[in-house]
Amino acid sequence: MRPPYLLLDVDGVLIPFPQADGTTPATHARHDVVPTGRAPDAPATIWLNPAHGPLLMHVIRTGLVTPVWCTSWRQDATMIIGPLLGLPSLPYVDLPRPQITTSHPNGYLWKRDYVDTWLNHSPTIWIDDDFTNLDHEWAAKRTAQGQTTTLIQPDPRIGLLADHLVEVLARAVRVPSSRANASCPASQAKAA
Ligand SMILES: [Mg+2]
Repeated sequence: MRPPYLLLDVDGVLIPFPQADGTTPATHARHDVVPTGRAPDAPATIWLNPAHGPLLMHVIRTGLVTPVWCTSWRQDATMIIGPLLGLPSLPYVDLPRPQITTSHPNGYLWKRDYVDTWLNHSPTIWIDDDFTNLDHEWAAKRTAQGQTTTLIQPDPRIGLLADHLVEVLARAVRVPSSRANASCPASQAKAA
C-alpha cells in the first residue's frame, strides 16, 4: 500500500510571515523569484530556511510518506520553491483558484474540500499553518472512519520546525498502511 500523503504548505510553513517590524528570521535567506504569471521585472521576495531542504529529504528518504505540495504556489512549489531548497521534483495538488477574500470562507480552510476529494480514502499527514477547529473536527472524523488524518499546524510567524518533522515520522509509522510496509521485511525474513 502507498504510504500516507504528506501534504506540504508553503506560505506560513516554509515561508514564515514577516514579523510586525518587517524583519525576517535570521535562519532564512531571501530570494527574489518570478512566480507563474508575474512579470520578470517584478519579482516576488521570499525567504526560505536552507536547513529545511535536508530535513525534508530526511523525511522523504524514510519512504514512510508520499510528499505532495499543497499550496497556492501550485506548480511553482515544484518549479521554484523545491529547487531553492534542493528538493527533487515533487508532485503538487492542483488547487482551484476561488475568488475569496479570506482563507476560511466557510469557517474552514479553503483548500479542504478539494483536498478531501483529492485524497479519496487515503491517509494523510497535512502540514498547514491555517487550520481552524472545523478542520481539526474533519480530521478526527476521517480518522474515526479509518482514514488516518493528522494535521500539523506550525505558527505562521515561525514556520516549520524540526520537531514538526519528528512528529510527521512518529505519526507515519503509526498509520496502518505504513506499518504494513514496515513489517514487510520482517515477515519476508520470517518466511525465509
Ligand atoms: Mg499557509
